[in-house]
Amino acid sequence: MFYRQLGKLQSEITAALCLNLPTGLTQMKRVTFIGLGNMGLPMALNLSKAGYRVHGHDIVPEVTLRAAACGLAVVDRSEAALADADIAITMLPAGADVIAAYRGALLPAARPGTLFIDCSTIDVASANLAHSLATAAGMRALDAPVSGGVTGATAATLTFMVGGAAEDVETARPLLEAMGRRIIHCGGPGLGQAAKICNNMILGASMIAVCEAFVLAERLGLGHQALFDVAAVSSGQCWALTTYCPVPGPVPTSPANRDYHPGFAAALMLKDLDLAQEAAAAVGADTVLGRTARDLYRAFAEDGGAARDFSAIVEAIRKGNALLPTA
Ligand code: NAD
Repeated sequence: MFYRQLGKLQSEITAALCLNLPTGLTQMKRVTFIGLGNMGLPMALNLSKAGYRVHGHDIVPEVTLRAAACGLAVVDRSEAALADADIAITMLPAGADVIAAYRGALLPAARPGTLFIDCSTIDVASANLAHSLATAAGMRALDAPVSGGVTGATAATLTFMVGGAAEDVETARPLLEAMGRRIIHCGGPGLGQAAKICNNMILGASMIAVCEAFVLAERLGLGHQALFDVAAVSSGQCWALTTYCPVPGPVPTSPANRDYHPGFAAALMLKDLDLAQEAAAAVGADTVLGRTARDLYRAFAEDGGAARDFSAIVEAIRKGNALLPTA
């Protein structure tokens, strides 16, 4: 009985290895990780720590060298590693970078059946195009943008918002769990990106609302702590207030207590609000608050705030409405 079970086990493993398909007994283990910047490097290191055989690559040689110095196995060119990979993960700046990488080096070098997971935050149209290019080349594809920032990437506590086929999500789940805490399947291709930009549009608009409330309170002579104590237990409660409070004091861990060192830089918030507006225009959705938040963050970034935490916009709001574009 035991030997019969052992034989069945061995043939299942052999079949999975030969066909290069995951089963309940085998995991997809060989990963090529493209883009080793602020987010990509800690994510790749966490995969490596979890036992995945990771080869990392970045287009900038100094970044690849820094990753090697942190203990990651790296390659000069992604092609060789891809030929031997089960999964290819990209963590790149923008949609154009993902499409260029898919078309250029990645898809031609990968074996059919390789699972492509794009974790970058990109526009929905590019996410859909990336899916189509990958599937046309015989690959499987997911969009899986993240929230949680560099802190979450380092601590492996990211939230993944995933778009694509359910069976591909299940294949990817153990690997995503090695980098994050919550894996949410949002629907078909592109819907992970849709969830990400909708969430960040809420965050951008709610941060501005919280900042305006603190500035109004200051003018009315109401203390920061008093407003916080009321709103945190009332209907004004939200993440921007209770976790990321934009004034120093009430939440000691918020960037306001360290001169707005990010955190989540205003330039990244502006990027996500631009993506939300792009998507809104494409589907004819009128998002007045999202558009206003984008305009305010654009003015703030152009006025020298780009590298500061996005909650630092409270300082610009304190200066007054000159921030609002007149056109
Ligand atoms: P980053 O600029 O630090 O890293 C991106 C890396 O990609 C760079 O090192 C760049 O050299 C590399 N790259 C570009 N094109 C490449 C190519 N063709 N091949 C290989 N490497 C290439 O950016 P980041 O902060 O790590 O962010 C990455 C993505 O994650 C972005 O889409 C961003 O919007 C998103 N994101 C960032 C944060 C954050 O807090 N930093 C949070 C959530 C989501």
